[in-house]
Amino acid sequence: MHSHTLLVMAAILMCIVTMVLAVMWHFNRRIPGLGSWGLAYLSGFALCGLLLAHGRLHEAVFVAAVQTLTFLVAYLNLASARAYAGRPPLPRRYVAGALTGVVALSLYFTIGQAHPGARFAVSSLAAGSLFLLSGRALATGSIAHYPARYLFALASGAHGVFLLLRPLLFSPGSAGLFDATNMLTISQFVVLESIVALMLMAFCILMLANEHSAAKLRRLAERDPLTDVFNRRSFLNLFDKALSQGARSARSVAVLLVDLDRFKSINDSVGHKGGDEALRHFVRTAVATLRNEDVIGRFGGEEFAILLAGSGLHDALATAERLRAAIEANPLQLGGATMVLTVSIGVASSCRHDDADAMLDRADKAMYAAKHKGRNRVETLDQESGLRLPQHAALPQAGR
Ligand code: GH3
Ligand code: MG
Ligand code: MG
Repeated sequence: MHSHTLLVMAAILMCIVTMVLAVMWHFNRRIPGLGSWGLAYLSGFALCGLLLAHGRLHEAVFVAAVQTLTFLVAYLNLASARAYAGRPPLPRRYVAGALTGVVALSLYFTIGQAHPGARFAVSSLAAGSLFLLSGRALATGSIAHYPARYLFALASGAHGVFLLLRPLLFSPGSAGLFDATNMLTISQFVVLESIVALMLMAFCILMLANEHSAAKLRRLAERDPLTDVFNRRSFLNLFDKALSQGARSARSVAVLLVDLDRFKSINDSVGHKGGDEALRHFVRTAVATLRNEDVIGRFGGEEFAILLAGSGLHDALATAERLRAAIEANPLQLGGATMVLTVSIGVASSCRHDDADAMLDRADKAMYAAKHKGRNRVETLDQESGLRLPQHAALPQAGR
């Protein structure tokens, strides 16, 4: 196929992808990176147009414009991938410095010491590194949760590797894979590879947008909107999973039921909004006090459940006491006023054939025992062996 026809085809495809991405961005502005991915494909479209106009422009102007657009396609792709992955933008002065360097070197190898091979190497190395970094930016998180990220990383990374190797494959003379004197074959191959890679990446971007929306919906379904911890249903699912995993690996699981003390009077004194802030303050303190793998769920109102996988009764009581002390020691600052919050905690630890309902029932009874004994304390009905103690009988080390 003639490379002119290939370039026209590439321009049409870039134009279609730009329009699709622009429409998607218009309706999904919260998906990070979508807008700049659209700009990357727009730059690709402009690059195709420029290559088609070769011969009508002064050579130096043509080279500077081609190198700038090639750099922009690769850089905007990297900026979008980083934005999508939640990473900060690259410092502008580095980007401007790299672009200036690439354009200056290319001009030097055009009007200073004319060397098309060196010019080809400069743009290939710059764009190749940027595509490789874009792939790296998205290869994060679990592959089972984010398959589209890894597919994009593969497409972008492979394109980056090809660009980096391109100067070797097409080295002038007979050493390379192709003889560089056959410029038509080379330019056809280069354009074709870019079309395939950029189209693959466009499909990956659509999959990423879909993955982002699905993750957002999943989060909305799983989380409590006020405090962003798990809601009751998802907490119970995680609890069941932890219990069956624990049974298989003979590891114990513990649950804490936490109820904020005299919360009605907090609402009465600081209003419902102040009460909401107190709930968020409790969650912030709990997150800072607990381990990363501990799971917090809001069971309703001012009652929370905390799942401690791999913790026996002794550890769970120590964790509960640490949490109780942290809540008491970190008062809520609200509009200049300081308000001390306290919690009552019931603890249950898994014993053989325990199910979530039975454990939550014991934790609930223990929590009410803590309330009856004056609040701001930790109680349990269990003992280390997992057998039940008579109701309301706490271990000596539980509570204060
Ligand atoms: P106790 O120490 O016995 O637990 O006393 P309490 O006042 O905390 O218990 P009670 O269950 O009587 O009151 C709970 C209050 O929590 C009543 C309700 O108005 C308030 N509440 C429930 N959900 C929310 C919420 O989402 N935001 C706010 N601000 N308050 C809530
Ligand atoms: Mg309460
Ligand atoms: Mg309550």
